[in-house]
Amino acid sequence: MPLTGAAMKLNELNKLADNFAPSPKMPVLFVGHGNPMNAISENSFTRGWAESVKNLPNPKAILCVSAHWETKGTFVTAMESPRTIHDFGGFPQELFDVQYPASGSPEYAKEVQKVVEKTEVHLDHEWGLDHGTWSVLVKMFPDANVPVFQLSLDYTKPPQYHYELAQQLSSLRRKGVLIVGSGNIVHNLRMADLRNESNPYDWALEFDALSKELIKKREHSKLINYQALGNAAKLSIPTAEHYLPMLYALALHEKDEELGFFNEEMAFRSGSMRSFKIG
Ligand code: ZN
Repeated sequence: MPLTGAAMKLNELNKLADNFAPSPKMPVLFVGHGNPMNAISENSFTRGWAESVKNLPNPKAILCVSAHWETKGTFVTAMESPRTIHDFGGFPQELFDVQYPASGSPEYAKEVQKVVEKTEVHLDHEWGLDHGTWSVLVKMFPDANVPVFQLSLDYTKPPQYHYELAQQLSSLRRKGVLIVGSGNIVHNLRMADLRNESNPYDWALEFDALSKELIKKREHSKLINYQALGNAAKLSIPTAEHYLPMLYALALHEKDEELGFFNEEMAFRSGSMRSFKIG
């Protein structure tokens, strides 16, 4: 029997209520994504990504904060079907052929708008999934059967602002949302050498090790004020966009929650693939 208008409305409401019903608290991930070629490779990094989401409660949606979506103001993708954005050049056609056909989540996008009080979050219908998101998710959730949406990085704001905004996302974890920050703690592209993976710079190793210590000791304010951490930090973070997604994950680290590192390796001499899972 066809549903009447009212019954349909009720159906939609039930669906919404179900979406936001309390669910087991979802972990939070920070993932070093590195070279986009990982999306079509099998290596220790991609195995680490796949491993990190084993035995997870089934997420209802994935919110990704990617290094590759910088905007003035804060936006959240709100389309039903986000496109796969190939936001790079000089890679083989095989990489451009990758599609990640996950649906979006307009409902959760509106929920982000609601929970973030720090700023007005605008709904976006233009972006999609950039490679910071899909090159990792294609290994974590190869079936693309979980809705995915992205939150942009406001490039006009300092690290402390991003950290505080991220804290306001915490309730989403209890509504079935897996929050993933995707960047690289150490990321100096100008000094990268893709043919010499095995010989990282001393400053890259130094800052990677320091970040591990500070993350472990929960010294968040030092990590937020990374510019005061000396020369190794300056060289490791010449621009903030790959580092900030790490602060988004860190801001969600609750008392008594475990934090475990994975992919604790360097790449392209001037990059760290260090990743971690909270909860
Ligand atoms: Zn990147």
